[in-house]
Amino acid sequence: MELVSGEIAEDLTAYLLESEQVPSACALGVLVDTDLTIRAAGGFIVQLMPGAEEELIEKLEDNIFLMDQLTTVLDEDGTDAIFSQVLRGFDWHVVGEYPVEYRCYCSRERVEQALTVIEPNELREIIAEGKEISVSCQFCDRTYAFTPAELEALLKSSENNLEN
Ligand SMILES: [Zn+2]
Repeated sequence: MELVSGEIAEDLTAYLLESEQVPSACALGVLVDTDLTIRAAGGFIVQLMPGAEEELIEKLEDNIFLMDQLTTVLDEDGTDAIFSQVLRGFDWHVVGEYPVEYRCYCSRERVEQALTVIEPNELREIIAEGKEISVSCQFCDRTYAFTPAELEALLKSSENNLEN
């Protein structure tokens, strides 16, 4: 699917409507402080349940259009204020709360797994250079170092796996 605008929230909304057939209203915001740290960040996504009337989405869109700047709401009033603004006029209640965090699921074992897809000959060449190599995770930038001896052991164990 083509991106609509490059704005994540608009593209996500278009994706949900076109690909998932779910009318949605979505907004995201990040407020960067003067020292370049993130002062507030957050967003919301509201989706119609199957069978809900289309005009509900118009009401939601009106609410969103009329609401304060999302980053201002997040910074000054907190996340709860998003509900009362976005869902103004709706009978809403909280059914669950979950903490969110940024977490990467990479591990040394996963990187080792990834290294086993390198052609054995290529891996032998790397080992022959006699240098430590480092592999960085594309998601969190964490790096994992491997000595030639460790690569040798990986090569042996993947060769053993192939034989078995
Ligand atoms: Zn990672």
